[in-house]
Amino acid sequence: MEKTKEPILELKNVKTTFKVPKGILKAVNGVDLTIYKGETVGLVGESGCGKSTLGKTIMRLYRPDEGQVMFEGQDIWRYNKKEKKEYTKNVQMIFQDPYACLDPLSVVSDIVAEGMRIHKMYKGQELEDRVLELLKMVGLNKDHANRFPHEFSGGQRQRLGIARALAVNPKLIICDEPVSALDVSIRAQVLNLIKELKDKLNLTYIFISHDLSVVHHICDRVAVMYLGRVVEIADKKQIYENPVHPYTKALLSAIPMPDPEVKRERIILQGDVPNPADPPSGCHFHKRCPYAKKECSETVPPFVTVEPGHQVLCWLAEEQQSETKHEEK
Ligand code: SF4
Repeated sequence: MEKTKEPILELKNVKTTFKVPKGILKAVNGVDLTIYKGETVGLVGESGCGKSTLGKTIMRLYRPDEGQVMFEGQDIWRYNKKEKKEYTKNVQMIFQDPYACLDPLSVVSDIVAEGMRIHKMYKGQELEDRVLELLKMVGLNKDHANRFPHEFSGGQRQRLGIARALAVNPKLIICDEPVSALDVSIRAQVLNLIKELKDKLNLTYIFISHDLSVVHHICDRVAVMYLGRVVEIADKKQIYENPVHPYTKALLSAIPMPDPEVKRERIILQGDVPNPADPPSGCHFHKRCPYAKKECSETVPPFVTVEPGHQVLCWLAEEQQSETKHEEK
């Protein structure tokens, strides 16, 4: 893929918190991330790491307590009414459970047409033609147009969710675990459809998933999150072949390697993910990290660039990098 390297979205020290009975839950805790036009960036991590909250913060569903979300150079919280409406058209979401967000009382043609009506994009015959074009694009047909969501299989509902997201010609789509609720047998079909549409329609994706095999299949770059922070970001190849952060290494050790020549020992992490409302001090990972030193529990580590485009939040980033290279020999 030819990368233009033109930023479409920039997150600058974004913090999104929630009040909980025991205090403040820092769901997203200081994320800096730039997404470039035309790429697919995977956001990965265990449940509770903040990846979905970050997705919803980008969608403008949660207002960050600190930091900025910039879309095409403009702060999305400084928009006027017209710009706000335009943003809801430019940035769409594909959900994990499409059924939960499809109106059960509306037929497919109305579901797909809704966004286009709101944004006054088409009407009359043009609107009908556009609905049929979108259904065809996602592998459905005109016979599906007058049916209700409950008449569809899980895979077809996700195709419908994709058609609805595409209807308003978005620039950026946030895919939140879009295939994890589907049968394994149809996951690859929906995933390939998402991939094909990106190239065809010149889209940019943020792909949220806990499944590293799925992310490997679809993403250009990967950001690994742990307890509200991005702990490692790099091109897919760098992350999968030379992971540096001890948490990324542990996550990757649990999946089959794409290259059978590369052998990796399974790393079993001790303990559970800590409570995000009461995260460990310093490096949030220090209680589970086999390499933790005194400073790890005292101070937040710096974001170290270990090679161009590859950054790691770890006090021992350089040692970890040489250890990975050593293991490969
Ligand atoms: Fe482990 Fe310390 Fe690096 Fe955190 S900063 S990942 S505790 S070595």
